Parts: sequence; C-alpha cells; structure tokens
Amino acid sequence: MSFLSSLNLPSPVTQIENSLLKEKKISLFIKRDELIHPVIQGNKWRKLKYNLLNAKKNNKSTLLSFGGAYSNHLHALAAAGNQLNFKTIGIIRGEAHHPLNPCLQDMKNWNMQLKFISRLEYKQKTSPEFIQQLKQQMGDFYLIPEGGNNASGKKGCAELLTELKEHYDTICCEVGSGTMLSSLIHNNTKPHTDFLGFAVMKNPQLEQEIENSLNYIEPVSPWEINHKYHFGGFARTTPELDDFIKNFKEKFNIQLEPVYSGKMLWGILDLIKQDYFKTGSRILAIHGGGLQGLRGFKQLL
Ligand SMILES: *Cc1c(COP(=O)(O)O)cnc(C)c1O
Repeated sequence: MSFLSSLNLPSPVTQIENSLLKEKKISLFIKRDELIHPVIQGNKWRKLKYNLLNAKKNNKSTLLSFGGAYSNHLHALAAAGNQLNFKTIGIIRGEAHHPLNPCLQDMKNWNMQLKFISRLEYKQKTSPEFIQQLKQQMGDFYLIPEGGNNASGKKGCAELLTELKEHYDTICCEVGSGTMLSSLIHNNTKPHTDFLGFAVMKNPQLEQEIENSLNYIEPVSPWEINHKYHFGGFARTTPELDDFIKNFKEKFNIQLEPVYSGKMLWGILDLIKQDYFKTGSRILAIHGGGLQGLRGFKQLL
C-alpha cells in the first residue's frame, strides 16, 4: 500500500508552553495525530489500519460500517476506501436530509454508498440476523463495527505507544466508546506511566465497559476517566469552549475541535490549575484528529 507511506507517521509530538505550565512546573506535550492525513487522521486512522489490511488479506472488495450523520469514522473510511479501491457502504443512523451536510457530501463524493436507516433499526447494528439481512441486500462485505471499535481497531491504537520515544508520567486521551483508552492501558509496556481519559459525553457506565473489555491475564497500567468536562454531552459546546479553541489555535497554532480534543485540552489545563498533577510531571495529550467535525460548528469557522 503506497498510500500507507504517504501518511505522516510517526506523528510528531509538540511541546506547549505558557505561564501556567511554567508556574506549575508541568511539561505538556501533544501527540499530533491530527496531522497524519488531512482526512484519514487521528483515532479513526489508528482503528482503520488493520481493518483495511485484513480486508485486503481476505480478498474483500467491499467495506461496510455504521455511524451518525457527522461520523468521523465513516468519513475516514470513505476516504480510505476511495484511495485503496475498496467499495464502501455507510449505514447512517436517522433519516436523510437534503442537501446533505458536508461530511455526508464528502462521503458521497468518495463513492460511498449511503444507506439511511431509522434510529430503531440502527440499534440492531451488532445483531447477526441484521448483518445477514444486509448481506442479502447489498452482497458480501467486510464488516467494520461503528467507530472501528474491534480487535483490529485496538491493534492499531496500540501502535501509537510504540511511536513514543520519551517517558511521560501521564498519557491523556479523549474517551467516546473507550476503545482507544482500553487499548492503551492494555498494551502499555512502560512502567511509571498512567493513563487519564476524558469522557466527551455523559456515560457513567464507561469504567465498567472498559473493565469488561480488559483481559486481566495481561498487566494493566493505572488508569482513570475524568467525567467533569463533557460540557453538557456529546457534541455539545459552550461559548467558553469555542473561545478556548480559537485562542488555542492563535497561541499554539494547533487546531482543536469541540467534540473531542477541545474538551480534553480544556480539562488538562483546568486540572493543572487545580494542582491535580505532581510538580515536574510530563504529560502527553493525544490529539485524536476528527477535524472534519469542525464544519458542524459554524461559529468556529
Ligand atoms: C471517535 C473518536 C474518539 C473516541 O474514541 P474511542 O476509542 O471511541 O473512545 C476520540 N477522538 C476522536 C477525534 C474521534 O474521532
């Protein structure tokens, strides 16, 4: 896959400096996974990689997956499929609205076949009967679950750790389903590193879901999820968060978005103010990409 060698990997690490960090003697770094590719970036690239390689290995020519109307996952999948000559099918939660939003329009332009289903039907996305029904309708396909959240997805997430050349006391990531966090804590081999996830929606079950996904035969690094920075729920934002994102771009020339990375970076800086981290700590925040999602927030453009 020559497409693979065109990706900006390993993604760079940038240190952030300001007076707060200096005062609190904290070193903050950002793993720039949003720079991997203009579209096929971040968390969603990490999860797609081994799914794409597996599909090729199994001679599958069509990829099918699930997502909402602003899905970073389906957007990246459509672009990657287009680059790698896979047919792609996106099963979209909810009714079609015309004109299509920019995310869906891109997917369509990249030749993804879009199939809109009701929210009720969408709930069956993991049911074997429903998948079988889809195969009868659409022909054979390689199935990638919503978000790319399967074993191949986790394998790709784990690769991020192998790219880190320096020690970090705490590694932070955004938490949606918890697939990334679960992969990191399961695959980390370095001692003295703990993991802090930032929940981007209200989901008190997250810890239990991650516990259930872990295989306790393997050692697991210390981890925690912070639930204080969801800003009202998934894809919710506030004028303060919007301003934070604009200022961050001005000061550090790093683009954040309000669904994931904006909330995490706000949370990290807020916790630093509250002396949550030990003096002298080295913190790494993983920027999960998803910058196409900015187009859903007109006030930020
Ligand atoms: C999907 C996504 C996440 C969520 O990752 P999980 O592994 O589901 O927790 C985080 N950040 C970005 C940018 C995403 O697109």
